Amino acid sequence: MLGSLASYRCGWIVLIAAQVGLVTGALAFGQGLTPSTSPGAIPARAPVTPGLRVFDASLVDKTVDPCENFYRYSCNGWFKRNPLPADQVAYGRFTELYELNRQHLKEILEAAAVPLDTRTPNEQKIGDEYASCMDMAAVNKLGLTPVKAELDRIDEVKNASALAALVAHLQMIGVNAFFSMGSSQDYADSSSVITSYGSGGLGLPERDYYTRTDATSVEQRKQYVAHVKTMFKLAGERDQEAGRDADAVMAIETRLANATLTITEQRDPQSLNHPTDVAKFSKELTHFSLGDFVAEAHAPTAGKVNEAEPKFFAEFNKLVADTPLDEIKAYLRWHLLDAYGGTTMPESFDHESWNFYSHILNGAQKQQERWKRCTSRVDRELGEALGQAYVEKYFPPAEKQRTLEMTLAIEQAMDKDIAGLDWMSPETKVKAKEKLHAVMNKIGYPDKWRDYSKLEIVRGDSLGNEMRVREFEFARDLAKIGKPVDKSEWQMSPPTVNAYYDDQMNNVNFPAGYLQPPFFSGNEDDAANFGDMGSTIGHELTHGFDDEGRQFDKDGNLKDWWTKDDEQKFTERAECMVMQYDTIEAVPGVHLNGKLTLGENLADLGGLWLGWLAWLDKAQAAHLDMNALTDGYTPDQRFWIAYAQQWCTQTRPEQLRSQAEGDPHAPDEYRTNTVLTDLPEFAKSFSCKRAAAMVAEKPCRVW
Ligand SMILES: [Zn+2]
Repeated sequence: MLGSLASYRCGWIVLIAAQVGLVTGALAFGQGLTPSTSPGAIPARAPVTPGLRVFDASLVDKTVDPCENFYRYSCNGWFKRNPLPADQVAYGRFTELYELNRQHLKEILEAAAVPLDTRTPNEQKIGDEYASCMDMAAVNKLGLTPVKAELDRIDEVKNASALAALVAHLQMIGVNAFFSMGSSQDYADSSSVITSYGSGGLGLPERDYYTRTDATSVEQRKQYVAHVKTMFKLAGERDQEAGRDADAVMAIETRLANATLTITEQRDPQSLNHPTDVAKFSKELTHFSLGDFVAEAHAPTAGKVNEAEPKFFAEFNKLVADTPLDEIKAYLRWHLLDAYGGTTMPESFDHESWNFYSHILNGAQKQQERWKRCTSRVDRELGEALGQAYVEKYFPPAEKQRTLEMTLAIEQAMDKDIAGLDWMSPETKVKAKEKLHAVMNKIGYPDKWRDYSKLEIVRGDSLGNEMRVREFEFARDLAKIGKPVDKSEWQMSPPTVNAYYDDQMNNVNFPAGYLQPPFFSGNEDDAANFGDMGSTIGHELTHGFDDEGRQFDKDGNLKDWWTKDDEQKFTERAECMVMQYDTIEAVPGVHLNGKLTLGENLADLGGLWLGWLAWLDKAQAAHLDMNALTDGYTPDQRFWIAYAQQWCTQTRPEQLRSQAEGDPHAPDEYRTNTVLTDLPEFAKSFSCKRAAAMVAEKPCRVW
């Protein structure tokens, strides 16, 4: 995802930076799923997740009333068995599987790290990169030597006119310097890949961290400045100099933040669509040579450009003119050090980065073991080389087929659902169905693997490798401009425990790492699988029709296909959900943001509804006895429990706060309870009375 401005969004869950071992600011946050045979009819894969079940009766707490708190009812048993580990900021079923996958990846990496002549080129790369990362003694010994040339380069800039080439160079090696530049599909014509310039350059997770006035936010900013100062001191600056430089960084970033759209505003694609061309954009930037920038970056020197946030670039232009060069250099030095924190840098830098981003901001108590962080790092850097080895071992072809069948069943349910909507006109229904049937289903792993042959990985050069990876990805991204869109490309690596929908591609993507227990199992029945993975598939499909996705047509163009009347009716229904989530206080003093989370909440409710409809169809076709008890529960009860059990998660208060403030997904408790209160079918399954907490007074419903 480095340098890329693709429209990929809506990861089913957000992989928590501190959890996956990324601790640097920029990286951590820059980088967000049919009917015929029964799933049980195809042989299941080897039990690689022993003991994990999609529906697990032993986790249910019968002392809790399911009509009062279904999340606690379904998950208390899991909570008791799974105390929050000290090295995690949140631990749930996703992390449970993620940790298991990470063990599998570790085995692959350890085998590849044995320097045998028989290794394939990809095995050499992943093996040597893992070995380099694990060799902390070598990393410590090298110290800052590998970035010395970059620090010197910043130091040598003598005037503002040399700045543009320097910024380009830093961006090429993955430094979050001022703004972002990369390829993206044209909003107006999704078949065309153009250059896109977006806001960037912040060290705190997002712009509101710079503007909020509550006591916690003020304290976080103070701690951030202290962190930047410590990093400068570790890099050799004297106390006073480091303090001055840290203040300069904060001043520059605050200006950039104030000119950046809020994360809620950024959810509206219209607010990010400002087509221009290189020449016009260049004229706007009177104090920054775009010509020098594109020349150094090997970016297109002419042609269509999307200037995503004009207000941001106007402020950037002013900032370059009126900020002393020494302060700009301090800002760039900080982002260089920040970009290469974590496992690439000596222990002192690594620990300091962890302390601020994971401990202070998100509450982690202990740094993750190095092997965990190195495994995640290789997955991030060389995901399709490692992923290829992973799917060969852990993802049999039958799994792909089973997921595809389920996806087709959910799509069929959505087709029926659209046909039956009482608020949508026949005209819009035709278009909606066209879009639904144009969705491309991508399951497991790419048809065509990424070619890493031009990337050099040197054993013993951890930081140098990371730099080469970033340069490789930067160039790979820019090479897409002007070429036909590659719809087969993936934005997540195959071992990832997550899924996503892409607005401009109109495709759903379900990585292999996710398609296993406790989310999906060939050994369990449809009630469990449709409640869990079925609702996830429905979730991703619904994204194509949420407040953001509905603005794109079947080909991924930002083009209105709704009648005015239907649009208004949709908006009224969506507004019900905005109000519903706005009232939720996630941590004392912090409410959920109904507008920020609207797309995900619509997808959660729509997805579960589609999973339910598809399962009912299958159950009826199979003449399933709806009163038969398994483990003491009817099939429909097990459907809802399986849905809820995927969300069992323990979260630290600091992390919960970060999530409530900046995550487009509601916290897991609400992804369970709030969604279910809107579904009378759920209340019926558990005979909940109208006044019960799990029954909304005025249920919301769009799809
Ligand atoms: Zn989503």
